Amino acid sequence: MAAVAFLAEGGTPVIANAITVRAPWALAIASGFKDVENRTRQVHYRGQLAVHTAATWCRLGGQDPRIRSWWWGEQNWQNQGPLDGTEFPNLMRRIVAVTTVAGCHRAEPGCCESRWGDQPNTINPVVWHVELADTEALLEPVGPVRGSLSLPWQLPPDVAEKVQHQLDDRLMDALAAAAVLGDSAPADLADQVLARVQDGGSAAWKASQAQLDGGDGRG
Ligand SMILES: [Zn+2]
Repeated sequence: MAAVAFLAEGGTPVIANAITVRAPWALAIASGFKDVENRTRQVHYRGQLAVHTAATWCRLGGQDPRIRSWWWGEQNWQNQGPLDGTEFPNLMRRIVAVTTVAGCHRAEPGCCESRWGDQPNTINPVVWHVELADTEALLEPVGPVRGSLSLPWQLPPDVAEKVQHQLDDRLMDALAAAAVLGDSAPADLADQVLARVQDGGSAAWKASQAQLDGGDGRG
């Protein structure tokens, strides 16, 4: 189906950048739980980012109470040992999610409500909280891919394409589901959206909207 790649072909929101985070932190982000990433430098980037797992497991992360309670559950985690990565085979150096950097503020007591934000300490006297929103895990992690410490770093085009296709597929599913209202679903909704992008203009979009909104009033 040609429509699955319509965002990539249309040139609008294509996922192009990534952040590398060590597991298990990256996996807690992908699961939608970890909404703050801690950095020692201010992050000026805003917008969508692919979340990439680093090549090595973070042992301290595996011991962290927040990680353990995320994984084992609030009731059970204290009876469980640290996570050592064996629970997550084949997830290193993979794109595991897409998130959005919504903001970045300097950490200080009470700065935000997230339990994932670290406070400054003797090792890291300055900490910045990178605010993450709208995180979606990829159903099929993409990779392995070599990461980078830069924030952001640019995804190789073939990797970006694979990530984008998963996002597009999901969007098309959502559009199709939204269109399925009783028996009034326009079967060619996907093609209409594709036409809108390919024409690059409002004419096709307006036409498709008129078709969706008007007519027999069942929509
Ligand atoms: Zn904060």
